[in-house]
Amino acid sequence: MTHTVSAPDGVMAARVAGAAKVYGAGDAAVHALDGVTVGFPAGRFTAIMGPSGSGKSTLMHCAAGLDTLSAGAAFIGETELGSLGDRQLTLLRRERIGFVFQSFNLVPTLTVAENITLPIDLAGGRPDTEWVDALIDVVGLGDRLAHRPSELSGGQQQRVAVARALAGRPDVVFADEPTGNLDSRSGGEVLDLLGRAVREMGRTVVMVTHDPGAAAHADEVVFLADGRLVDRMAGPTAATVLDRMKSLDGRPAGAGTSPAGGASA
Ligand code: ADP
Ligand code: MG
Repeated sequence: MTHTVSAPDGVMAARVAGAAKVYGAGDAAVHALDGVTVGFPAGRFTAIMGPSGSGKSTLMHCAAGLDTLSAGAAFIGETELGSLGDRQLTLLRRERIGFVFQSFNLVPTLTVAENITLPIDLAGGRPDTEWVDALIDVVGLGDRLAHRPSELSGGQQQRVAVARALAGRPDVVFADEPTGNLDSRSGGEVLDLLGRAVREMGRTVVMVTHDPGAAAHADEVVFLADGRLVDRMAGPTAATVLDRMKSLDGRPAGAGTSPAGGASA
């Protein structure tokens, strides 16, 4: 695997330390994250996997500054998000982070071209035309630039969303189940695109998914269960990820201690 524009080894584009997130209070409290420490290396494609409700989206939202931690710290590069005010946090999200969601979230009244440069326009910046042109080339939508999102297939819309996320050359792109609404062929195209963003364009991608086939596109997979980091796997394949997931799905709620004579987790 070649990294044409890679960051020095060991540099983290984003990380959380001792991250805890509690929703609600008292008897109704849900410990969505329970002391997670994990880094997302710059220039790499990391997938976050785990059973439904294991805290994947919460981890992504807190790491990306879309939500705040109850305890612990989240960093984008060297910047601790908890040290920022609302306005600084908004600026950081705009300038240093790209987002891709399951539901595409394109602006229906804007063209493809306008959607792609929207984050830059909102930030009052000027698109780097060379970069944006290269991006349009990679997403393969050069002949659709004047179209509206409603004139595109779901897969094409999500490719526009990926281009939009990358347009401002963010430090890290966070994607939450980006293939969740797509058929496997369109999903594969979006995953290839995320992979090329990392391997050919030097970007950092962190993707939440519950699909082992999607996770296999990543350089490394981190596994969550019950709000805790339980494993990491480099060089994943769909088969090895599926295997690991099977053992996690079998974990009893509140696992951590295995029952006497129980199976290993
Ligand atoms: P995943 O993305 O792995 O499915 P989530 O991070 O969405 O998991 O959720 C983790 C846990 O936190 C779940 O038990 C979920 O019900 C709970 N949760 C998530 N968001 C909220 C919220 N806004 N209010 C209350 N509970 C929440
Ligand atoms: Mg989720």
